[in-house]
Amino acid sequence: MTPVLETVPLTSLYSETPLIESRVLSLWANCKVYLKLENLQPSGSFKSRGLGLLCKRAVDSLPSDSNKPHFYSSSGGNAGLAVAFAAHTLECPSTIVVPLTTSEYMKSKIKTAGAEVRVHGRVWNETDIYTRELAAEDARGVYCPPFDHDDVVQGNSSLSFELRAQLPSPPDAIICSVGGGGLLAGIIKGLDENGWDRVPVVAVETEGAASFNAAYTLGKLVRIPEINTVATTLGSTIISQTCLTLAQKHHTIPYLVTDAQAVNACWRFSEDHQMLVEPACGASLAIAYTGAIRKILPDLTKNSTVVVIICGGSALTVDLLQNYCERFKDQF
Ligand SMILES: *Cc1c(COP(=O)(O)O)cnc(C)c1O
Repeated sequence: MTPVLETVPLTSLYSETPLIESRVLSLWANCKVYLKLENLQPSGSFKSRGLGLLCKRAVDSLPSDSNKPHFYSSSGGNAGLAVAFAAHTLECPSTIVVPLTTSEYMKSKIKTAGAEVRVHGRVWNETDIYTRELAAEDARGVYCPPFDHDDVVQGNSSLSFELRAQLPSPPDAIICSVGGGGLLAGIIKGLDENGWDRVPVVAVETEGAASFNAAYTLGKLVRIPEINTVATTLGSTIISQTCLTLAQKHHTIPYLVTDAQAVNACWRFSEDHQMLVEPACGASLAIAYTGAIRKILPDLTKNSTVVVIICGGSALTVDLLQNYCERFKDQF
């Protein structure tokens, strides 16, 4: 067995985040709404939990006298940013390869976090293939997948462990957004391991990125033909098998919102709570703002508690939000 070196504590790779009650959302939803503020992670999203654990385990599994790993990610979004942050904390090099479509704003954010940024590929698939090749050619290379990895799911499950410590009793529902399913899988795993296995989870996507909905409805993995949404962070054409298996065994309710509803929720949230979150997160908030939660779970009462995972996101600027609002305001 290789000697295991404890590098840095896991808690320096992600933060314990506050859980606050939102009076305004409680009024709209007609039940008690709590916000789990993952947007306060240093990287701006919950992704630091799963990817932080993955990167830490890669370092810890090496003998102490060997070279440190070099981390690779193919995401121009929150996953790339989370890997850059984790690598920096672990004092390892990282290379984030992004597609040509990635904004200057995100590239600069990732660079500031301490990573080398490379641009490759017109579509993400090309970027990802190239990134895996780079990692494979590098003797110290570790490829970091954004959602489909046991470490990522386990790291994300820490969210449910925190909720268990922060709430006096189990909530009546948890609302979270789904892209490739790493967040949903982690939440369910954490709930099941905490004796909260009966807490229903509402799994939210936008209509143009409904890969979880498709798989759950069919009862097997399916690749949706295209992604068409402003919630780009939810834009995975297929979810992980782990996510589907966990969701099938737990009370999980898939739900779709429109882009307009997600954007509207982001805008209202910025006014109500002075926080800017991506449409990927707005999708979950929309379930509370529109009052849909009471229709999805008709047994809820005014005193029921619902937790919305404010998954966060770093890709949204004030300008971009204004743009989206212009585009969708007819549907608000
Ligand atoms: C990654 C991400 C999601 C989706 O998470 P998955 O694990 O891919 O399902 C949702 N919201 C934000 C802000 C994200 O960064």
